[in-house]
Amino acid sequence: MILEYHRIDRPEARWTRTPGNFRRDLERLWERGYRLVALGDFLDGTIALPRGTTPVILTFDDSSPGQFRLVQRDGDWVLDPDCAVAILEAFERQHPEFGHAATFYVLPGADPPNRLFDQPALATRKLQYLASHGYEIGNHTLWHANLARYPEAVVRAQIASAQDWIQQRVPGYRPRTLALPMGGVPREITWAVSGEVKGSTYRHDAILMVSGGPALSPGSSGFDPYRLPRIQATGTEMDHWLAHFDRHPGERYVSTGPADRAMR
Ligand SMILES: [Zn+2]
Repeated sequence: MILEYHRIDRPEARWTRTPGNFRRDLERLWERGYRLVALGDFLDGTIALPRGTTPVILTFDDSSPGQFRLVQRDGDWVLDPDCAVAILEAFERQHPEFGHAATFYVLPGADPPNRLFDQPALATRKLQYLASHGYEIGNHTLWHANLARYPEAVVRAQIASAQDWIQQRVPGYRPRTLALPMGGVPREITWAVSGEVKGSTYRHDAILMVSGGPALSPGSSGFDPYRLPRIQATGTEMDHWLAHFDRHPGERYVSTGPADRAMR
């Protein structure tokens, strides 16, 4: 499962998971033997998990404030304990074997509150924190453009300029993946895979959709990295898919140990 979160905030809504429900999601995954894997490791086929456990990937779209918020305490900026990053790190302290990984599909040029977590003075610090603390930053276009609607030049400019903005804040950082806003597939998928705009080159190892169910193993024959499906992490979808894999354990990817190369 590649889980797709949007807002972490109150109250619970179609595109909002409350901090409490997000914690509960992690708890339910943990109890059922799921462990976090970085999207990049999954794409490389490196699923280094203990024998008998199942990989799960977390993604967060649209850089809304509740995903990563800092608050001031005694003159220092510290994580708001109810933001997604803090919840993940608190959970990891409790259960170190759960793992540490998540990909954030940020919007450098969106209107507030979705522009880089909505604390402009802290945007650089946050992106650098993500890049240096084991998270991944993904491309989600400059301002959430539906790429199905635009000609090639606009599609490429949206992608390249989003990467430029990320690199201005985290020099040399290469987003390895693109999540398509609203699932809008450009007329030619190759426009989104790689390209060059005014000297800026981009290349994506995978392109993520907004829905589609669980992803296949990267070692399986039908695996298509340019149409990676995701599961929207709403209450209903979480209930559905956790129950589904409880009932159909044979459909679940189960690691054979740390040297697993995802051959099934
Ligand atoms: Zn989005």
